[in-house]
Amino acid sequence: MSLIKKLEQLERDYAILEPNEEERQQINQEVIGFSDEFLAGINDINAYQGDGTMESSFALDDKKHHFKEILSIYRKDVIGKGVVPASGGHIGYIPGGGIYAASIADYIAAFTNEYAGLYYGSPGAVTIENETIEWLKKLFAFPETAVGNLTSGGSIANLIAMTAARDKYKIKNEHIHNAVIYLSPQVHHCLHKAVRIIGLEDIQYRMVKLDKKSRMCPQDLADKVAEDKRKGLLPFLIVASAGTTDTGAVDPLNEIAQIAQENKLWFHVDAAYGGFFIMVDEKKSLFKGIEKADSLVVDPHKGLFLPYGLGAVLVKDKKAVMQSHHYLARYMQDSHGDGIDSPCDLSPELTKHFRGLRLWLPLKLYGKTPFQACLQHKLLLTRYFRKQLELIGFALGPEPDLSVSYFWFPCEKSIENDFNKKLLAYIHDDGRVFMSSTIIDEKFVIRMAILAFRTSINTVDKGMLMIKEALDKCIKDFNISY
Ligand SMILES: *Cc1c(COP(=O)(O)O)cnc(C)c1O
Repeated sequence: MSLIKKLEQLERDYAILEPNEEERQQINQEVIGFSDEFLAGINDINAYQGDGTMESSFALDDKKHHFKEILSIYRKDVIGKGVVPASGGHIGYIPGGGIYAASIADYIAAFTNEYAGLYYGSPGAVTIENETIEWLKKLFAFPETAVGNLTSGGSIANLIAMTAARDKYKIKNEHIHNAVIYLSPQVHHCLHKAVRIIGLEDIQYRMVKLDKKSRMCPQDLADKVAEDKRKGLLPFLIVASAGTTDTGAVDPLNEIAQIAQENKLWFHVDAAYGGFFIMVDEKKSLFKGIEKADSLVVDPHKGLFLPYGLGAVLVKDKKAVMQSHHYLARYMQDSHGDGIDSPCDLSPELTKHFRGLRLWLPLKLYGKTPFQACLQHKLLLTRYFRKQLELIGFALGPEPDLSVSYFWFPCEKSIENDFNKKLLAYIHDDGRVFMSSTIIDEKFVIRMAILAFRTSINTVDKGMLMIKEALDKCIKDFNISY
């Protein structure tokens, strides 16, 4: 066969990869039908289905399958199992929901396949990403000179910030053993992971004492830093949280910032869960001092209700973040950026999803107001839920800073933990509303995180019905009077 013939044959063999307009329309119709059906039922389906056994229908057999068949596998075995994160009934862990406009942005970003790693490749896409960073800088009153990056989530965003802190303070070689990092025992575990990943596993950790609301005690922090300095150690980093995952506690940022400033330490704030509540006027004061952070992490896939896959990091010291992340490869020698920061200068990633569009498009489409309203709604809804729980005899954790809180059914101490564990098991069996649990002062408590944009008064009322039914069963099981 001549070379031309062979090429033509191969082109026919892969022509299926470029469906024609009619074929596209067919697929589009199926997908739109599926999304309509899914979204029409989203407020009625259970938020949790415990049965986790998986079908073999997922296995790749290298053959062609009909699109309908693939969708039906997805319906049954992806949506129908485990937690339904798109549901407003998801109030476990940290939800968000996933707004529709962002999924459309993902679709556009994917079929146009814009290259958002490098300004030279797509100045438009990179400028969109940079504009979202500008928007975040304004929101948190970071200076013009700060830089930032959109990541896959909070974990990688925290990793970038930790790397910058390490590089700024040149924590390497013989300094590692003497360097000290100050954390809350409630800090998210991804920060421990980040410290290990960047080679600082053998650093010294100081766990700062917490107050009754699980916030860091500034005095204890100051004492610990002073003590370490006296010992000739090298304090360099304080990690605070603006909304811990466990209880939503916001550390006293302003006081911590001052301690960091006085001692010339890097001040990092993990606001992955709570950061966007700064948009709610009543909560602004809680975030005072966040603008003094050297680095800050937020998760738009939580507090801005985007689908999973979007975190962000802001860093004030551009040089520190460039130290590990900026690199000039020979094969990229043409890629001058006209002095404009490219995402790849500030992140381990080079080629990446054009994820900025899923943040930029909804903000451009709707403006800021609905996001503010939705966040304020979640704070008030948390209050409403707690009131309902209290009315039927539940004990509540302290008034929450934000929208994460916890409760338990008080009974005789010897059975209390078992009772509440059983209660949660019944709640999970039911599945209408999904909650998780945690341990606070050795007590097993049921934890709720109200942040999914679809969580409404109806969800709470449905949740209360579910909880009452579970409570009745538990009371029978444990044979206690009520
Ligand atoms: C969710 C969360 C993280 C981790 O972020 P991912 O987006 O899950 O990687 C870190 N810190 C806090 C406070 C969080 O709530």
